[in-house]
Amino acid sequence: MMRLPWFRYEAPRTVAEAARILAAEGPNAMLIAGGTDLLPNMKRRHQTPGILVSLRHIEPLKKTANGNGLTLGAGLTLSEIVNTPTIRANYAGLYQAAAQVATVHLRNSGTIGGNLCLDTRCTYYNQNYEWRKAIDFCMKKDGETCWVATASKRCVAVTSTDTAPALIALGANVRLVSSGGERDVALADFYNNDGMEYLTRRSDEVLTEVVLPDLSGWKSTYWKLRRRGSFDFPVLGVGAAVKFAADGTVEDARLVLGAAASRPVVTKAGELLRGKKLTDEVIAEAAETIASRAKPMDNTDLEVYWRKQVAPAFIGYALKEVRGDDMRNTRLRIARHAL
Ligand SMILES: Cc1cc2nc3c(=O)[nH]c(=O)nc-3n(C[C@H](O)[C@H](O)[C@H](O)COP(=O)(O)OP(=O)(O)OC[C@H]3O[C@@H](n4cnc5c(N)ncnc54)[C@H](O)[C@@H]3O)c2cc1C
Ligand code: SF4
Repeated sequence: MMRLPWFRYEAPRTVAEAARILAAEGPNAMLIAGGTDLLPNMKRRHQTPGILVSLRHIEPLKKTANGNGLTLGAGLTLSEIVNTPTIRANYAGLYQAAAQVATVHLRNSGTIGGNLCLDTRCTYYNQNYEWRKAIDFCMKKDGETCWVATASKRCVAVTSTDTAPALIALGANVRLVSSGGERDVALADFYNNDGMEYLTRRSDEVLTEVVLPDLSGWKSTYWKLRRRGSFDFPVLGVGAAVKFAADGTVEDARLVLGAAASRPVVTKAGELLRGKKLTDEVIAEAAETIASRAKPMDNTDLEVYWRKQVAPAFIGYALKEVRGDDMRNTRLRIARHAL
């Protein structure tokens, strides 16, 4: 049985208090929201903070605000996101992504803030301590060498959050609060292409809100490739949002790939699709071009060459769905492994 290491537990009631503890304790303190990623990681000794600062009792983090767009508290659970009718109606990509994270039980605890800060994943890292010790560990934790790319100076562990690609496609910003003040960051800039330093967040900052713009005229979706249709981390995620003119021409488009690098990959979909109608030919050509630029590594589930081969199909499904095609049967086929 894997046991948690010892830690001190703090349960502040305000963001200011949480930020104060982070500032005073430095990297020895970590935030915990639902704990669905952090606690298993601590059991495997990926992270061993001396102090856990819980966000569970901070009520403002659980609020939703409608205005010119939508503001989501970082402490909302993924189930709360999935069960919010406005999100399903106006931000379908976020709804789809949140609904496909893990299982119902995990979504009942796991939060949107925790999902955006999710640790990167790798076959050589997501193992217990003894397994990792047997290969002399790796650069991301306790070791020197990257076993995926032995000459690499950079860890290439993979971003595995489902909601980040969907939210970047939706043009989301996040608010970060520390004892020194607060700042708003485009979610696309919240990530580094580095499996170890994968966030641009400082260790003393609390992610408090996700801010979505008004997206009238846009349609969005999220498609996910994974081994098991019931639950599994993504080995490819496709977040897409397209704005159409009255005649069906694309005015603007954003398409973001998840699980294809250490950070979500923002593609050139806008350049490729603006001014065009989403015909089958346009979709096929754009999907091939976008997929050809993704360079996934062989350090997640499923065979890397096969993942590359199916990438254009998944990009195509996303674009067809925002075009208005009924893709429910395709989704069902994928969930049942009948690709
Ligand atoms: C079996 C299993 C399957 C899973 N499948 C998926 C999947 O398919 N897709 C997916 O995306 N995830 C998956 N997960 C991971 C996890 O359940 C979700 O990502 C969840 O949303 C994490 O949220 P949390 O609140 O539990 O985060 P926590 O575990 O509490 O925290 C995760 C990280 O975020 C930091 N953090 C949390 N909140 C904040 C904040 N407000 N500000 C700054 N930092 C913060 C923590 O310090 C920690 O580093 C799975 C987990 C398990 C165990
Ligand atoms: S990519 Fe390399 S350094 Fe990073 S977790 Fe995997 S093996 Fe370790």
